[in-house]
Amino acid sequence: MGENNKPVVNLISKPENMLKTVYTACRTCYSADYPINIYNGADDEAKMLKLIERVISSGHYSTIEHIQVTFAISNVSRACTHQLVRHRHMSFSQKSQRYVKEKGQFDYIIPPTIERDENLKSKFVDFMNKISEQYQEFVEAGIPAEDARFVLPNAAASSLVASLNLREMIHLANLRLCTRAQYEIRTMVKMMCDALVAEEPWLKPYLVPKCERLGFCDEDKSCGRVKTREQLGF
Ligand SMILES: Cc1cc2nc3c(=O)[nH]c(=O)nc-3n(C[C@H](O)[C@H](O)[C@H](O)COP(=O)(O)OP(=O)(O)OC[C@H]3O[C@@H](n4cnc5c(N)ncnc54)[C@H](O)[C@@H]3O)c2cc1C
Repeated sequence: MGENNKPVVNLISKPENMLKTVYTACRTCYSADYPINIYNGADDEAKMLKLIERVISSGHYSTIEHIQVTFAISNVSRACTHQLVRHRHMSFSQKSQRYVKEKGQFDYIIPPTIERDENLKSKFVDFMNKISEQYQEFVEAGIPAEDARFVLPNAAASSLVASLNLREMIHLANLRLCTRAQYEIRTMVKMMCDALVAEEPWLKPYLVPKCERLGFCDEDKSCGRVKTREQLGF
């Protein structure tokens, strides 16, 4: 691989009437009316957005757990997917290195820091070729793929289907769009957010790095975008 180092991300499933559904969940908490009447009567977008922002800002997060979205993701490294699967409120189905034997050179991702240096890139590619030869030798010797894969690197490309609810999506964006997050997961999560915002523009203010919602940086050192708590004096 190495030709196209960017993740491939597609939103493959989301509910219809997402905004109305979240609004209905929010409004139901404060209304004597039946939820179905609230849903059927929801037609004022500005009113819906205002209530949703108030409810989310107050931390009343169960209201956004009713929405589930699914992404098809490929051309990302195992280093990246290992970070993604740490998110415990997501569901994953990932290409197996036990059941899917690598035939010929396995696909891999080259980090941009290495890719932009021709000399280092060539060493990286040589090393991937050597790993591939060793992997193939094991497989040809009858070693099962589940054991031969032990020599495969973090750079090996993977594919997965990932589903999550809106609460987790916002949490994922807040953590992984932060410049402190590793570049590849940051790129992939940005693509997930962009795909969702393209369909649901009202979500844009929520799918941002945590500092944009907090108003300050809670990391030890700020990237400069906003000040840390210490710099702000609290
Ligand atoms: C910049 C960065 C650097 C990182 N570095 C490292 C590292 O060096 N080593 C490492 O091991 N990990 C590292 N991580 C991963 C990190 O520790 C988390 O595992 C990962 O970000 C998932 O976050 P989460 O637990 O908030 O999210 P999720 O698992 O998605 O959970 C969402 C939220 O649900 C709640 N929750 C979920 N499970 C529990 C539970 N069991 N108990 C109580 N509340 C729960 C919490 O409020 C949590 O924030 C790093 C992450 C980032 C963003």
